Amino acid sequence: MKRRDLVSVAGLAATVMVSGSVWAQAYPSKPIKLQVPFAPGGTTDIVARVISEPLGKALGQSVIVENKAGGGGVVGATETVRAVPDGYNLGMATVSTTAANPAINTKIPYNPTTDFTPIINIAATPNVIAVHPSFPAKDYKGFLAELKKNPGKYSYASSGTGGIGHLQTELWKSLAGVFITHIPYRGAGPALNDTVAGQVPIIFDNLPSALPFIQAGKLVPIVVAAPQRLPQLPNVPTFKEIGLEPVNRMAYYGILGPKNLPKDVIDKISNGVKKALQDPAVNKRIQDTGSLVVANSPEEFAAQIKAEFEVYKKVVEAQKLKLD
Ligand code: GLU
Repeated sequence: MKRRDLVSVAGLAATVMVSGSVWAQAYPSKPIKLQVPFAPGGTTDIVARVISEPLGKALGQSVIVENKAGGGGVVGATETVRAVPDGYNLGMATVSTTAANPAINTKIPYNPTTDFTPIINIAATPNVIAVHPSFPAKDYKGFLAELKKNPGKYSYASSGTGGIGHLQTELWKSLAGVFITHIPYRGAGPALNDTVAGQVPIIFDNLPSALPFIQAGKLVPIVVAAPQRLPQLPNVPTFKEIGLEPVNRMAYYGILGPKNLPKDVIDKISNGVKKALQDPAVNKRIQDTGSLVVANSPEEFAAQIKAEFEVYKKVVEAQKLKLD
């Protein structure tokens, strides 16, 4: 045996002894996929792309964002549920995929509270109803009056069937007593494109993806879901202020994996995200989108998903919402 072979045999023996299984290497030993279950340009995509690079740096491996849109996020989320629980196939957790859609879609192939391993909630984001600048009202009072005067005349864009935008708008419609038609997209990105282009007059979106269009004057914000008025939109009332507190719910954006993820994977991703968020530049990038940095524990995030699922189940039941 040559000296070089001896060295590599010794190296292999060390790997075996350290890890307890042949070939096992410390996680992560290859790039990690972070799946976005919506099209590019939505808030899920924005948060994933802000965190992926610094998370990769913290872990010493690349984190590759992959978009898999369809079914209001259910197609991508199902792929994450069915992935091998080795930590190399992670997904973005959204309200649409973990609470809203599972509450309304009886055919959904997973249970949001038992089929995922929640890891960390990265950010909480406000939501907004906005209109195209050609809409004949610029504030909530005028908006409501216009819709009441013209039932069925207008439509609204959302990030997908059964998602947060769909269910929150249906809840708002039934509480406000108006009728507008739903137009689902493969994510907020394409929904925004069509609203900004004037194809659809109204959109319900999570703030981070809508904010740049609002700031550029291409969309007019009407009402926001946030605990209080937002510094970026000081003149826009919250749903609570207009007397519709049940619609005043924020969205969450986190990371999850399939069920049974090993503890060291959970800890490494969770610590990696926390470390990334400690970088003031990364933290600022999230806050500049109008979001609040959360960075909670896996247990806290699991409890949050469970609670949100319960909220949406009640909304679906109370409003008798059904998928068309
Ligand atoms: N707004 C998100 C997107 O299209 C999806 C909806 C959610 O946040 O649950 O990227």
